[in-house]
Parts: sequence; structure tokens; C-alpha cells
Amino acid sequence: MEIVGSRRKSSLSSAGDAFPTLPLYRSAPVLEVRLEDFELYAIHRLRVLKGISDGLSRGKKPNEMENLIKDLWKVNMMHSEAAEVINKDIISHFVLRLVYCREEELRRWFLSMETTLFRYRFQLETPEAQRALLAEFDLPYKAINNAEYETVKDKLNQVVRSTGQSLSSADTVYYKVPFEQVPELVATRRVYILKGYAYVAMNQVNSLLVTQYRSNLSKALVLTNRKWTSMIREQEKDRLTPIVEALSVSYLGPDYSQSKEYGEISLKDIDQVAKKSFPLCMRHLFGKLKEDHHLKHGGRMQLGLFLKGVGLNLDDALAFWKAEFSRKVGAERFDKEYAYGIRHNYGKEGKRTDYTPYSCQKIITSTPGVGDHHGCPYRHFSEDNLRAALSTMGVGNRAVEDVMDKVRNRHYQLACTLTFEAIHGASCDEGINHPNQYYNDSKKVLESRNNSKGT
Ligand code: SF4
Repeated sequence: MEIVGSRRKSSLSSAGDAFPTLPLYRSAPVLEVRLEDFELYAIHRLRVLKGISDGLSRGKKPNEMENLIKDLWKVNMMHSEAAEVINKDIISHFVLRLVYCREEELRRWFLSMETTLFRYRFQLETPEAQRALLAEFDLPYKAINNAEYETVKDKLNQVVRSTGQSLSSADTVYYKVPFEQVPELVATRRVYILKGYAYVAMNQVNSLLVTQYRSNLSKALVLTNRKWTSMIREQEKDRLTPIVEALSVSYLGPDYSQSKEYGEISLKDIDQVAKKSFPLCMRHLFGKLKEDHHLKHGGRMQLGLFLKGVGLNLDDALAFWKAEFSRKVGAERFDKEYAYGIRHNYGKEGKRTDYTPYSCQKIITSTPGVGDHHGCPYRHFSEDNLRAALSTMGVGNRAVEDVMDKVRNRHYQLACTLTFEAIHGASCDEGINHPNQYYNDSKKVLESRNNSKGT
């Protein structure tokens, strides 16, 4: 791909018809991409993949996943122009390959989500398009012709009947596959075998195709990682590296630096609000600050920006931190050493940037050292400490087990979502992506409960 600074017609758009709806992403296309599109398309695809990841970890059923993926695709990837859709699909896939090829954990996640996306999209294709894709994949299997089908038809129908499918719905397109390549189908007697070949129905071939897709993509990711330095010109690498790095930890939700959706938070209410509406990461920092009257830099940043996002104004923030810190270091030292950092977070010192509260992604990938209290408890606490913290928050035994299950599978944000749901007795369908979103959602639930009590 060639990255350009201004819009130029993509060579792909004029050749759009030559591509099937679902591309196989065999090689990076030769086309020019605006730098803005490079990033934007990747963000849109990332939203689809993150939605899939969330759906899978919530244990959604196949039909629910199918609807979810259809919706995610429609919202994020569709354009009025068909050729634009294909361009975006291909460009975004290859950009994310660059983003996710660099570490084993990233590669594994990307591979799994892209394969799931491919499987569902393939299922949604028409039978003709599926056959065309199979042909394009060049799998070493041949569809049997009509004459051969007639000779084995009865046997094939017997297998279909024995597996409980209705004959009318059975696909009459079958592929001959060496039986050792489909051990699962053989073991469950879902195929007819003759002379070393299994007669595999079209819908069963799909899984072979998906396996092949996964294996191709896996190899391609390793290769992309190796070639990252030589793949693109040095000058382009300088432009792309910051985007590629930022995308792998990118937060895709709203900016909470100015949100203050629930007005300002007052100092006299802050203890109560913390107990009811702060997520565990912030409750922990808040508690440690009250206990030790001190937090190290990482903790001051994480909690300080969160508090700014929930509506603690600068004067109150200075008073809040001073009240705690002065008990440990004295008021004078606070004014000298710590007040600057707080004003800085509010954009009143240094570069005068209005800093944004940290997202879950950023907090989860942080690496707290000894004596630090920042980070995400679901990721950084020991199991015993996490269990104790959850029970202090009022999470019941059964919900604690569900949360721990998600933690063991490294679905930290989902563990936080389950905690939210257990405490608030309300569902949080979009999942927790940001501590300030947790706070806003909590306030929403509590306020609507108060309002309904009042009526
Ligand atoms: S998932 Fe996000 S909001 Fe929840 S504890 Fe971790 S960092 Fe905080």
C-alpha cells in the first residue's frame, strides 16, 4: 500500500468488480491511501473486532453472534459506494495486520477475531459466492459432478437423514476430501466414505475453508512482523509508526475529559460517590490515598484525571489533594512539589494541554511497580486480593465466581462489567471501556432508581 497525503483515486475502486464481496486478503493491494483513511478505516474495523471479542466472551450463541456481526459491519464498514466498502475492507484489514503483528498476544487476538469475522461473513454469502470463494481458495478438493452424485446419492441422503437434517435442506454440492483430513466429521459419522474419500457437503467444507483461512493469516502475520522494516520505505515508516503503535492500545469510545455529564462533583459528597459509583481501580486508589495520605505519580495521574473527568473542578482538586498529602508531607511541601502536577493536569501549566482521563485499555496495559497502586485490579491484583475487594464492594459469591472466570481468561473489562451489573442490578450491554463511563453509567442507574422512587 502506498500512503498519500491527499485524496487520489484508488486503483482498486475502478477494479472493484473483480473482487468478491468477501476478500481473501492474499496480498496487500497496490493502492494509494490517504493517511487519514489509513487510521480511520483501521479504527472502524477495530470497532467490529472489539465488538466480536466482547460478544464471544459474553458467551453469545451463534445466531446472536451472526446478528451482532451483521450490525457491527453495517454500522462501521458500510458506505453507499460498493467499491468504497471493498477498499475499506481490504485497507483496514492490512493496516490492522501491521498493528497486530508485532507481539504474540496481539497476533493471537487478531487472528481469532478475524477468523470469527471471516466465518460469519462466509456463512452470510450466497451459495454461488461461497462456491466462487472455495474455487478461489484453491483447496485441493473437487466438487463431484452430477453423474457421480447420482451414483452415491442414496448413501449421501442416508447420512443426511441419520444426522437428523431434512433431505430437502441438504445441499446437493459435495466435495471429495481425503478422509484423514476430516477426522472430526469421520468420528461423528457425518460423512459418507468411499475408497479413502469422504463426501463432504458444502456446509461442512466451510469449516475446512475457515481453518485454511486461519492458517494462511497466521503465517502472514509472522511474515508481516519480519518484514515490517523492509516492507515500506523509511520515510513512510516514520509517518506510520506512531499511528500503528497508538492503534494497538487505542480507546474507541467518547472523550471524557470534558464530559461532566452529571455536573460538578462536590468535595462533601466525594466519599459517598466513590463508594457507590467509582469502578474498582478508582475505589482502590481513592482508598489508598485516604489510608496513606500519599500516592505515587502513576496513581496521582490515574485518579487525578478520572476525578477531573467526573467533574471535580481545579480549586476543589487542589483542596482535595492538599487535605490528604499535607497530613503526610506538610502543606508547604505539597504547594511546592505536588500542586504544580495537579494544575498541569487541568492544562494550567506547561504545554497547557487539557489532559484526558485514562481509558481501561491504557490502565490495563500499564505496569505498576512496587508501592504503586494504579493499574486495573482485575489484571494486577492477586486472586485473593481481588476476591476480598469484590466482596467489600458487595458482589455476591456467585457473581464473584463469574468475575474470576473472566479474569482467568484475561477478559478484564468484562470482569469489570459483570461487577458493575452485580452491584447495580442493571445490565451494561456495551461493556465497560472507560472508568468515567463506569461512573456515568452508575450515576444513570442510581438516578433513574431515585426518580422512580419519587414518583
Ligand atoms: S476494567 Fe477499566 S474501569 Fe474497570 S477496574 Fe479495570 S481499568 Fe478500571
